Order: sequence, then C-alpha cells, then structure tokens
Amino acid sequence: MAKQQTAAAPPGVNTSEVLLCSKCGDNPRADGDSNNPWCKECRAEYQRNYERLRLLKQERHGYAQGISDMRELLAGEFDRLGFAEFSAIEVRDLIRNAPGPKLPD
Ligand SMILES: [Zn+2]
Repeated sequence: MAKQQTAAAPPGVNTSEVLLCSKCGDNPRADGDSNNPWCKECRAEYQRNYERLRLLKQERHGYAQGISDMRELLAGEFDRLGFAEFSAIEVRDLIRNAPGPKLPD
C-alpha cells in the first residue's frame, strides 16, 4: 500500500490528520472522500492545461482539414479543366484565385 502523506487538519475539520495532494504534496486534498487525490490548485492547473491542449488539438485538426480540403478543391478544378495545357504562371494564378474550401457548418 502506498504511503499516505498527511498534515494537520485545517480549522473546522474534525480529524487530527488530513491527506495531502498526491501531485504537489503541499496542500490538503480538495475532497478527502473522493478518489481524486489532488488539491484544488493542482486540479485547476490540470483543467487549464487540458483545455489549452484541447483547443490546440482542435486548431491543428482544423488546419490539417483545411489543407486537405484545399488540395481536393484544386484537384477538382484541374479535373474540370481536363487536358488543357497551362503555363506555370497560369497555374499559379489559378491557385491564387481559387476561392478556397467552404467552412464547415
Ligand atoms: Zn496539489
């Protein structure tokens, strides 16, 4: 069994010892009855990091999806144009003037 860190109980708590946060080891656990062994500060930090990473993942996913959609849009445009011959400058202009993929609903 893991060794439990303890500290003096804060005022109003009817016990002589309080379990400490398993992450920082400095603060009492936010909820002694819960299975979560962290203090309020460690829980809040985890939530902030989790939300930041979730948003970053969402952004990266959207960026990758945009690249994929743009590729398909340009390929579709060249499919539409068939066997026509283009200069590099014409292809450049076609790419620059392409409207871009639609935003998802
Ligand atoms: Zn903590």
